[in-house]
Amino acid sequence: MKQKPEKYPMYTGALGVQYTAAKTIFRLWAPAADRVLLQLYEEGNGDCLIRSVAMEKAEEGTWVNVQSGDLKGIYYTYLLTYGEDVLESADPYAAAAGVNGVRSMVVDLKETDPKGFEKDHGPKLNKPTDAIICELSIRDTTEHPSWGGTEKKRGKFLGMVETGTKSFEGNATGLDYIKDLGVTHVQLMPIYDFCSIDESRTDKDQYNWGYDPLNYNVPEGSYSSNPFRGEVRIRECKEMIAAYHRAGIGVVMDVVYNHTFDVKNSCLQKTAPDYFYRKKNTVYTNGSGCGNELATERPMVRKYILDSLKYWVTEYHVDGFRFDLMGVFDLETLQQIQQELREIHPEILLYGEGWTGGESLLPEEQRAVKGNAQLLNHVAMFSDDIRDTIKGSVFSQEAAGLVNGRPENSRPLRYSIVGAAKHSQVDYAGYVFTQGGAWAGDPCDTVNYVSCHDNLTLWDKLQVSMKEKTKEERMAANRQAAAVVFTSQGIPFFLSGEDFARSKEIKNGVFAENSYNLSAQINAMDYGRLHEFASLHAYYKGLIAFRKKHPLLRLDRAEDVQKHLQFTDTPEGIIHFELANQNERILVVHNAGDQEYEITQKESTRFDVYVDGVRASAECLYTWHGTCLVKGHTSMVALVKKAKK
Ligand code: CA
Repeated sequence: MKQKPEKYPMYTGALGVQYTAAKTIFRLWAPAADRVLLQLYEEGNGDCLIRSVAMEKAEEGTWVNVQSGDLKGIYYTYLLTYGEDVLESADPYAAAAGVNGVRSMVVDLKETDPKGFEKDHGPKLNKPTDAIICELSIRDTTEHPSWGGTEKKRGKFLGMVETGTKSFEGNATGLDYIKDLGVTHVQLMPIYDFCSIDESRTDKDQYNWGYDPLNYNVPEGSYSSNPFRGEVRIRECKEMIAAYHRAGIGVVMDVVYNHTFDVKNSCLQKTAPDYFYRKKNTVYTNGSGCGNELATERPMVRKYILDSLKYWVTEYHVDGFRFDLMGVFDLETLQQIQQELREIHPEILLYGEGWTGGESLLPEEQRAVKGNAQLLNHVAMFSDDIRDTIKGSVFSQEAAGLVNGRPENSRPLRYSIVGAAKHSQVDYAGYVFTQGGAWAGDPCDTVNYVSCHDNLTLWDKLQVSMKEKTKEERMAANRQAAAVVFTSQGIPFFLSGEDFARSKEIKNGVFAENSYNLSAQINAMDYGRLHEFASLHAYYKGLIAFRKKHPLLRLDRAEDVQKHLQFTDTPEGIIHFELANQNERILVVHNAGDQEYEITQKESTRFDVYVDGVRASAECLYTWHGTCLVKGHTSMVALVKKAKK
């Protein structure tokens, strides 16, 4: 009788390929297969079988074969027999693959290291709240004509590395632009091998974000200069990461372990049928909203994800992970992830989407969702609270938030200013977004943002929700949205180009919400807007620089926020708080109303203004004495000092 998938034996050793020039050991976990053949090929595609050899059945559901001689550069698959059925599969543990990831490849990983890679490492990060993260896509960053880099590197890993690139107006683009922004980390949209781009035809007009995983431990081929040679994409991906590290910027990888492109053709399904996916009776459940969900709670799935994450950290020097639809993960798996990854990289950044994308089979109390965030040891989650409080729900294009027509959101905003953690001056009972009080234990559990690759860009949201307003009024709303994010407790995050009013316009007045498969033209970053929106870009740069200079904006513990942050009661539409310690007093005011707001203190008080409605800087812009005024629809950040007599 056939064993049930949940009864498959657990194998704790190393899986995949162990390569040396003298011999290569292949080990596959395929507990339900009757027979497994190792197929060796000359190339990653085409009719070029070298030989087919039987694998030996070994311990705990594994199959082993040892090939003597140097197999470097040889492609391989497994041919698995289940009764009458014969399936050919790539290696789930493949480190390299041929074109379109169909066949795996034996690779000498040492040879894929760029020069000096053994000394490469990301920047120091004392605590998660010191991070400032910008979300990038390989394609979008280097695709637009305004990028101005080398033609053959357009849309590739190597394009991300190129420096000295300039827009038509002479503004820095690509890596130089990111470096100039002052962010500490970039979050790269999927760079693992995904399914939806035909790598053999990158000359064709194709575009996809890549949230459809194929080979979890292989970089995407269409981003390499040669997707046919498995070692090329590995080297070029490492070169990209090293270039960001040289620029002092950490690299966070967006990982999608919640589902695979499909079930039937997945190497996970072919090698261990129905083990890797959650299934209710005969139906694969859909917690990802993409047709299937990985059964993270099963020991060999958990091991697979852990092995994969550790591999990216040790082999590629990745500095963090952003977990797509993290709510599909069970808490135990995520707990092990944070524990084991922090053992090898104590400063690693770990965060994700604390929700699911559909109806998951996993019980709510076991999910890594916002409501269970405090059961995890500092794995941060995106705050849809701050996102929607600032500029309105993502589920209605016209819905407004604090900056674009709902000044009454000033009170709920307190929830997010303290990092969605506990603070005595926040009215949790009256909070209208997430029910049940503070979901974060500490501000370092919270990622604050108003735009990411999903939904309308911030600028498009403001265009749709502020139709009757002028461009200048929308810019003011944009500046205020940014001022709120960068002065709130938590980890600030933004979509690349938010600083130059990035837009994804499909046609006149119609904007893309989910542009994952739309054209490169719609998705690409138009650096020409750096010229048009130069003042907005400068505002973001100023906010980033100011935040980096002032530790009070980056507290990582709730008790420190309680101790150092105090709100002043204000009329609706106005948020007024101070952050203070023995070194400094930072005054922050967000005035979302129409009226001017006046703060009067002793004659001897000085307000050194660093951020106002128009400008933001790490240097003092000007000083008020005794009284200061904050105009409607503007924010202000000032250092409060006693004037010297
Ligand atoms: Ca691919």
